[in-house]
Amino acid sequence: MTPKFSQETLPLHSTASDATFEIDVWRYHHPDATRTVYLQAGIHGIELTGIPVVHEFMKEIEEHKLVYNFICVPLSNPMGLDSQIMGVQTGYNNLHTNQQNCWNWNRIGNLKDEPSLEGCWIKTLLDLSAPADIILDLHTAGIETVPHIYFNESDKEHVTGLGIPHLLTWNIPSDSFSDTNFQLGKVALTFELSSSRSVHGEWVKESLIYLRRFFGLLPKVEGSRIWQTEKQLKKWYSPTGGILCWHKDAGDSTAEGDVIATLYTRKGSLNLESPYTGVLLLKNPIQAPHERQELAKFLVE
Ligand SMILES: [Zn+2]
Repeated sequence: MTPKFSQETLPLHSTASDATFEIDVWRYHHPDATRTVYLQAGIHGIELTGIPVVHEFMKEIEEHKLVYNFICVPLSNPMGLDSQIMGVQTGYNNLHTNQQNCWNWNRIGNLKDEPSLEGCWIKTLLDLSAPADIILDLHTAGIETVPHIYFNESDKEHVTGLGIPHLLTWNIPSDSFSDTNFQLGKVALTFELSSSRSVHGEWVKESLIYLRRFFGLLPKVEGSRIWQTEKQLKKWYSPTGGILCWHKDAGDSTAEGDVIATLYTRKGSLNLESPYTGVLLLKNPIQAPHERQELAKFLVE
């Protein structure tokens, strides 16, 4: 018996003009599989790298006849993907059809029983992932980031050895897609593969290597660092408004007091010192911040 993908298209949403949004699901059954994997990308519409990664990895699943069952949803949020204003993607939140609160598309696991657009969409994804034991949700982060992964301590064995530089363990679950699944007793991991809004061939290649290591197609490697999200993940805010000029890249180590950026304000230039000793995890997509706007996230020693 040859394992093979079967494809299904599900309706999600229709607009005022009756344009429709649909979601494609690919299912792969291996006769000897004991575990089912749900592999998804694109929950946040500005996060693109995972979409080609899922398409490419589906070819590898067939080629290597991986002994798992797979449910693959490369493009899980077409509404988010199609959200843009004047050529800039904005699909991190639903700011099109929700007049009240611009839901973050990945913080609404709690809405699954609500008959709203968001509730219906997240219920569709949670129903699709229900048969799975392992949830891999592919995201990206910031305008610039170093690859990292969010996981619960109990899933540590699954995230070590993949070659992802920073592993962020959490204790308190959010209403994210992965955390909602984790609370149902599954292995559930949120991968942050690359920067958002852009895709580079090298990022796709590197991300495929993480997946090959996860599924045993490549040997595990050393070199990841584990951080505690609640204690060691810190946001950094702009002291005043201006034009931000960075002197560090995401992934760089920083020492408290190092000059890491210059802010050009009305009163002149201001050297911004690193507030932390640790790693610059990601930069936010703002180059002209207001006072107190979030600039970046750090992993703090
Ligand atoms: Zn995301």
